[in-house]
Amino acid sequence: FAPWDDPKEKPLIRFQNVTKKFGEFVAIDDLTLDIFEQEFFALLGPSGCGKTTMMRMLAGFETPSEGRIELAGQDIGPVPPNKRAVNMMFQSYALFPHLSIWENIAFGLRRDRKPKDEINTRVEEMLKLTRLEKFAQRKPHQISGGQRQRVALARSLAKAPKLLLLDEPLGALDKKLRQDTQFELMDIQETTGTTFVIVTHDQEEAMTVASRVAVMDEGRIIQVSTPAAIYEYPNSVYVADFIGDVNIIEATAKASGEEMYDLNWADGQPPIKATSTKPFTEGQQAHLAIRPEKIRISTEKPVDAPNAMQGKVLDIAYLGNLSTYHVELPGGQIIKTQTANTRRLARRDITWEDPVWISWSATAGVLLDQ
Ligand code: ATP
Repeated sequence: FAPWDDPKEKPLIRFQNVTKKFGEFVAIDDLTLDIFEQEFFALLGPSGCGKTTMMRMLAGFETPSEGRIELAGQDIGPVPPNKRAVNMMFQSYALFPHLSIWENIAFGLRRDRKPKDEINTRVEEMLKLTRLEKFAQRKPHQISGGQRQRVALARSLAKAPKLLLLDEPLGALDKKLRQDTQFELMDIQETTGTTFVIVTHDQEEAMTVASRVAVMDEGRIIQVSTPAAIYEYPNSVYVADFIGDVNIIEATAKASGEEMYDLNWADGQPPIKATSTKPFTEGQQAHLAIRPEKIRISTEKPVDAPNAMQGKVLDIAYLGNLSTYHVELPGGQIIKTQTANTRRLARRDITWEDPVWISWSATAGVLLDQ
């Protein structure tokens, strides 16, 4: 009898009330988290929030001050780094310059004194997986940056770890190559079924590659969920603001029906209508988080929009597929809206200083209390 029918629901890693202190400084604060088998998991957060410390504890370079970490049901506290089924790929790929690509990939297997046949088979598999067959005999300086990145990946997967830790793996690549490589990384993760944990500063990258994302702040996890749930339903102003672009409107809430609220937010403006499944009491401070693409912009007054206001265009950023508009309201507040440029001449009629209407539905935003 298997307690988990789907391996993706079986925890591979368990942080149980883990605290990590450096002297008096608390880098990880009573953190509990499960990461499942075959997951592609991302740790996201500002510099210093503890991402690298989490990775280093998984790899065995740091030990928790309190709590325990399990790998496949076993406490890994006493297990030294080289005995863990965990590998770490660093941003500086640290390839051996004098060894061929083939030898670089074989390195860990050789060190473990694996039989020759097994090494040959495994290296060939890894070359194929990372599409490097043609480059096997070259040295690292004879291949491109993207290819070197794939060698590093092949080398770190050669010993078939249960868990691969990726610390800013694509940091050295330019944007276009980085985006292509993200898809390769996803393919390779899926093909091997290895659990990947990635640390990246780039929230778009985390959202692209990961099946789940943990947003961290000061040694704690603020929210952990799928990229879409984090984007659409942030649990706090902190998460809403950290992931993507957002308007945060401060207001006081007043119930006006079931799950429906009037938000008083600015003198001279009618209350904003917003739905919320989370209850707010009369007069409670609330923040409405609303993504720019949920706000429409038009030159004509919208018909039947629950929330509509007039303002003037302060800035326009043309981004090719999208345009972003900053609209200033009479009270000086600035609202960001974003529109897809699906038709070539779409919105040409809107320019700087133009009076415009912005509008959104009552369900367009998320009402937050913190
Ligand atoms: P970055 O994105 O900048 O790499 P991070 O989220 O990975 O940041 P960590 O490297 O995990 O952050 O560090 C978390 C906190 O712990 C930081 O405030 C850091 O200064 C502190 N810290 C990390 N290692 C040590 C150490 N060996 N001694 C003292 N403090 C440390």
